[in-house]
Amino acid sequence: MKIETKCIQEGYKPKNGEPRVLPIYQSTTYKYDSADFMGKLFDLEEEGFFYTRLANPTVDAVEKKIAALEGGVGAMLTSAGQAATLISITNIAGAGDHIICSTAVYGGTFNLLGVTLKKLGIETTFVEPDWDEDRILKEFKPNTKAVVGETIANPALSVFDIEKFAKIAHENKVPLIVDNTFATPVLCRPFEFGADIVIHSTSKYMDGHAVSLGGVIVDGGNFDWAASGKFPEFTVPDESYHGVVYTKNFGKAAYIVKARAQLMRDLGSMMSPQNAFLLNIGLETLHLRMARHSENAMAVAKFLENDPRVSWVNYPGLESSKYKPLVDKYMPLGASGVVSFGVKGGREAAVKFLDGLKIAAIVTHVADARTCALHPASTTHRQLTDEQLIAGGVSPDLIRFSVGIENVDDIIADIDQALEK
Ligand SMILES: *Cc1c(COP(=O)(O)O)cnc(C)c1O
Repeated sequence: MKIETKCIQEGYKPKNGEPRVLPIYQSTTYKYDSADFMGKLFDLEEEGFFYTRLANPTVDAVEKKIAALEGGVGAMLTSAGQAATLISITNIAGAGDHIICSTAVYGGTFNLLGVTLKKLGIETTFVEPDWDEDRILKEFKPNTKAVVGETIANPALSVFDIEKFAKIAHENKVPLIVDNTFATPVLCRPFEFGADIVIHSTSKYMDGHAVSLGGVIVDGGNFDWAASGKFPEFTVPDESYHGVVYTKNFGKAAYIVKARAQLMRDLGSMMSPQNAFLLNIGLETLHLRMARHSENAMAVAKFLENDPRVSWVNYPGLESSKYKPLVDKYMPLGASGVVSFGVKGGREAAVKFLDGLKIAAIVTHVADARTCALHPASTTHRQLTDEQLIAGGVSPDLIRFSVGIENVDDIIADIDQALEK
């Protein structure tokens, strides 16, 4: 099946006489006829549901759909994108371990790795994604356990060279984890370029309507945990799970089964069946929306680039962007829906521009069907001076513009009248 068909048909497969649309299984627990069968479930010898913290039929169907969209062997939904990032890393690293992460990542990822995981004993070295291979290789240590990057970085909008980082990670016998939130599997499938684990905040384009928070971890199934020699937790019996050996019992799905069996069991950051139901509806139209988001964003970026009231524009799909060659390689169908730009007149002019918008709403969220805008200098970063903002890579005039799927003429007319003000 092509990706458009998978968006609709993968996941839930009703049997004779069952509801056509994925039902919401609003049940924490499941009934069995014998204690013996249930015992087998607990030993992971039989497949089945026993408690919604670990698995639920609604959530399971959506996990299967996302695994199919990314081309992975299995997926696990989480309560939010942050939980997906946390579990994707702690499934392979613990106190005393080290991670290499691109500097061009979501602020929440930067804090999780730089502050909270550090408190738990996992150190992170942040590397500039544009550094050459040799420079990045120097940052590896014997205890490095993973490399992390973001397909299209939020909010920097730089494009991650997945093949380059996969090669570097594999030379060091560790997996590459890619946050594919902004691209979605419709525009880019990181496994096809060597990534090993893909994560998402499904709160963004996958849900697409800003109605439910969520995250997902997808296992590509290609990393050889046993051959690496760096991941004994995969190859020795797990005493907390009746001696299961993940690579032996679950083969290619070792990583994702271990994430569920150990971390979802212990951390409990599962997605609710209700949110999985809403996410599934969003996924059905993902291919239509991503095409329109990309097309509209390109038109908005071109309009801004040719407007004398605008001082700069950053959209990776533009011919003038230094990331255009990477866009051509990794996401030829489009560069997604987020554009950033600066208006002449700096911080004050940016505030006026935002206040003047009539269609685009001022919100902190990005990446949903409705056009929205954010001015970090007057909101999320308002405590910082112009100098501090520049040092942090956010210019005082920066506007993050998330282009929706309205008619693009209306979006551009809205920008035009707000610029005029
Ligand atoms: C929003 C976001 C996250 C965090 O996701 P939540 O669902 O808000 O927890 C992670 N990565 C990227 C790229 C994001 O945009």
